[in-house]
Amino acid sequence: MDRDPILLTPGPLTTTLRTKLAMLRDWGSWDTGFIELTARVRERLLAIVGAPDTHTVVPLQGSGTFSVEAAVATLVPRTGHVLVLDNGAYCKRAARLATLMGRRATLLPFPEDQPVSPVALDAALSADPGITHVMLIHCETGTGVLNPLAEVARVCERQGRGLIVDAMSSFAALPIDAREIRFDALIAASGKCLEGVPGMGFVFLRKAVLAQCAGHSQSLAMDLHDQWQYLEKTGQWRFTPPTHVVAALAEAIAQFDEEGGQPARLARYDDNCRTLIAGMRALGFQPFLDARWQAPVIVTFHAPAHPVYDFRRFYEAARAQGFILYPGKLTEVETFRVGCIGAIGANEMRQAVAAVARALDVMGIDSGAPAR
Ligand SMILES: *Cc1c(COP(=O)(O)O)cnc(C)c1O
Repeated sequence: MDRDPILLTPGPLTTTLRTKLAMLRDWGSWDTGFIELTARVRERLLAIVGAPDTHTVVPLQGSGTFSVEAAVATLVPRTGHVLVLDNGAYCKRAARLATLMGRRATLLPFPEDQPVSPVALDAALSADPGITHVMLIHCETGTGVLNPLAEVARVCERQGRGLIVDAMSSFAALPIDAREIRFDALIAASGKCLEGVPGMGFVFLRKAVLAQCAGHSQSLAMDLHDQWQYLEKTGQWRFTPPTHVVAALAEAIAQFDEEGGQPARLARYDDNCRTLIAGMRALGFQPFLDARWQAPVIVTFHAPAHPVYDFRRFYEAARAQGFILYPGKLTEVETFRVGCIGAIGANEMRQAVAAVARALDVMGIDSGAPAR
């Protein structure tokens, strides 16, 4: 097959030809054209969260995790204490990176198949006034569960604690309005629901908070306060910017606007998710999550019970038909994941289900049904 495979993964994901073509140009980082491009992208990003004046957005080179690390390094003082609401792998990663940077981090555990509880958070904060910041993963991509951002934000505001939100896999698909949801930092990246290419993250920051954060970061490259100051002064990134990634993101945002913005993107992903789950159920597969908690971003399915099932072979068989699946991230149960995001629609999801059906056939598996 000479077509690129369809990426059913949580990033990198399938992008449009128009987005790819935007990268066929070399930009000088000092050039007015690139400075304007950066300014335009930042302005559009701020408009998407509805916060042009009260907040700023600081882009950062690297994958999404670099920006999570930078947000913690910049916002949390070295004597701070972060409480991470934990219902999955990305939550644990956030706590680990905070710990490695020398911040005190505590996990507040919840079951992996359910959202975190704002009531339990409220109790934990009341019990420990030393907690300075709360970290929430909006959509826990390890399972696909959607966490209650608005309720968590209200608890943090009432308790007077900072809130750092990893909205990597939800931003631009699920509604997030900074006028209604009070956060200190909210992190996302180019290669997720905006459907750009991977290579940069960006952090929305409340200016009143960020202004107090000079000198917090123990890292030069990860210092968002410094990056912000430099951008405001010069319009330029500190250090070599991912120029082609920024150009692709600008083009991806133009298409996001043309499609109808966040509501249209959510509608398409909802449709993708419904089409996928209906098709997979017809093959016997069971989603891991209750439909109530499922974000239309990535769906975790139980592995088939059939004794010859093996993810690697299943992956290869689907790959041979042009579809890239994603491994599971759960330790207790065997699962695999299928993404609903990217420049794909219900047709691609139906084709993906057909590819999964063929893969089962090739492997001699008669049903996707999991063990009881
Ligand atoms: C994708 C993602 C990240 C960032 O992962 P990278 O591999 O560093 O790009 C962080 N948090 C969540 C919830 C994600 O979905």
